[in-house]
Amino acid sequence: MNNISGLILFMNIIEEQINNAAKLLVKSRFAVCLTGAGISAESGIPTFRGKNGLWRKFKVEDLATPEAFNRNPKLVWEWYRWRMKLIFNAKPNPAHYALVDLENMEILKCIVTQNVDGLHTIAGSKCIVELHGNIRRARCINCNYKLIFEKPPEKIPPKCPKCNSLLRPDVVWFGEPIPSEALNMAFKMFSKADLALVIGTSGIVYPAAYLPYLVKENNGVIIEININRSALTRIADIYLQGKAGEILPKIVNLIRRKNY
Ligand code: NAD
Ligand code: ZN
Repeated sequence: MNNISGLILFMNIIEEQINNAAKLLVKSRFAVCLTGAGISAESGIPTFRGKNGLWRKFKVEDLATPEAFNRNPKLVWEWYRWRMKLIFNAKPNPAHYALVDLENMEILKCIVTQNVDGLHTIAGSKCIVELHGNIRRARCINCNYKLIFEKPPEKIPPKCPKCNSLLRPDVVWFGEPIPSEALNMAFKMFSKADLALVIGTSGIVYPAAYLPYLVKENNGVIIEININRSALTRIADIYLQGKAGEILPKIVNLIRRKNY
């Protein structure tokens, strides 16, 4: 087989798998979705573990921790302000909108996201569980007051309008537990599910990465979309290699056009 026929064969296999994924979604009773940083990559927001995963000379693991904040709140806020600028300028991409379509078709029941960018909400999805908080929000380390930013803060570190203590980003840092309400909701949704879409996550941050196993344990189907293989690929029934913003709209179009 020469290179060109090999490529055509590979593309046919992908198209067939996309078709199978569409069929399985239509047949599903309770489909859920886990998203990670990869779904927002096409909106221009860098992932943590990709080639743009470093900020200045710092590793994310050295900035997104309570210890880093205690040591140097200004440095941590500088990094968050940089990320907030990117996120406030970003728009949802076709992958986010395709998930809205699947929810409107009453196929997708809920999205559990590890992202803190709020783009699922802006796109218009309704059932969203934000496991790791939201970067557009800060909370007081003393009185827990929550502040929603309309734009990135000019003065950092920002202070609480109620008690003047430090505000911190209202996100979950490495080593911190996930807020119990979000975690319970995520477990509830994935325990009920007979199909999970796993999109753009490296599958190494727990407990988020555990959720697809709940579906697998109930003999459900896992459909993964990722440009590269992840830690969850080995449990995927269908692995669609490629960009979420290209593959998800194809699935939605197939479902629209065909009467499975
Ligand atoms: P990660 O950075 O560890 O992995 C990103 C994954 O996305 C990789 O597996 C990569 O191959 C894949 N990917 C990249 N571009 C893609 C595309 N166009 N289509 C499909 N897949 C693509 O991300 P993670 O697993 O979400 O874990 C990182 C943690 O960092 C999360 O806890 C999250 O809170 C946080 N984070 C959030 C954002 C955001 O809100 N947008 C961005 C970076 C990191
Ligand atoms: Zn306060």
